[in-house]
Amino acid sequence: MEFKAAVLTKTGGPLEICDVEIPNLKPGDVLVRVMASGLCHTDLEAIQGRLGLPLPLIPGHEGAGIVESVAPDVTSLKPGDHVVCSWNPYCGHCFYCDEGQPILCEKRAKAEPQGFLLDGSTRLRMNGDDVFHYSFVCSHAQYCVVPESGAVAIPKEMPFAQACILGCGVLTGVGAVIRRAQVRAGSSVAVLGCGALGLNVVQAARMVGAEKIIAIDLRDDKLEKARSFGATHCINATGDDLIQAVKDETSGRGADYTFEAAGIDHTLQPSLDVTRPGGNVVLLGKTLASKELSVRWASLAPERVITRSSYGGVKPQEDLPFLARSYLRGDLMLDELIDTRIRLDQINTGFADMEAGWLVRSVIELEHYTKGYSI
Ligand SMILES: [Zn+2]
Ligand SMILES: [Zn+2]
Repeated sequence: MEFKAAVLTKTGGPLEICDVEIPNLKPGDVLVRVMASGLCHTDLEAIQGRLGLPLPLIPGHEGAGIVESVAPDVTSLKPGDHVVCSWNPYCGHCFYCDEGQPILCEKRAKAEPQGFLLDGSTRLRMNGDDVFHYSFVCSHAQYCVVPESGAVAIPKEMPFAQACILGCGVLTGVGAVIRRAQVRAGSSVAVLGCGALGLNVVQAARMVGAEKIIAIDLRDDKLEKARSFGATHCINATGDDLIQAVKDETSGRGADYTFEAAGIDHTLQPSLDVTRPGGNVVLLGKTLASKELSVRWASLAPERVITRSSYGGVKPQEDLPFLARSYLRGDLMLDELIDTRIRLDQINTGFADMEAGWLVRSVIELEHYTKGYSI
């Protein structure tokens, strides 16, 4: 089948809307008609060439849609199911899968940088040549093909635009709180950085009953948004003495849990400094792979626990339906995370706006695209 997709043909972009083919499905494949696809900062890293992925490539790793067809051996999904795509499919039988850590799956780790699916090949073609997969999803397109473990069924009442953002930013932020740190009710939580990831940390802390949720950012508008997600205290780190301000709210000790969600380069040391002795620091931000980071020894000495979390230690098959149900119950805020809804042909503008730093999330609505837009 042939369909429209946003294809990265040269490093730096722009993305081009091209006709792409999926000639056939292989064992374990699920073909999804994409209904909504979120724009994420990691897409931008791929477009800028910072991930060293092969080209041409279809970005997009926050996808939701309807199962169009499945390979004969697929048992957990059927045509018509509504699904969220996970960028963390897994083989189910390697060392890490056996250890109950599917997000570290060995097959996944090998295939991802090559732009392949788990079997070490691509399904996508353009003008007869290979097109590579980005993060096993490639949802900036009308259709995508994903491994069975990379598509998770959700309730049909779940709207697609809200569903798609569950797959990356929401699951990463919420998972860091409920899975990785296992924040206790009644505790104090500090969050450095109130972009999409930080806001999800804030709302997850609210959901598990943290008593003090201290949002920290350099911009007042982001802090206001954090307050609407459940932050009980807001600190603008440009003006205030950050460490003292957090201590003032936590009986002079510092936060029980601190989540670094601002990009790590300038926030590693303050993340430690605002955490109480014996507290937990969860690092969510990223920097260049070759970058060395350092901290003052004194901030490590009092038994602070430092954890890195990339996908929140989550189990997508359990956690994505849980998050969808949480939204439908009114516990999880998703509408407020979506700033704009755009068409596929507006994707380059969407990324430019994201780079400017003013948006939490843009979502491409593919239904709108197929109804109202023609090349
Ligand atoms: Zn595995
Ligand atoms: Zn992402």
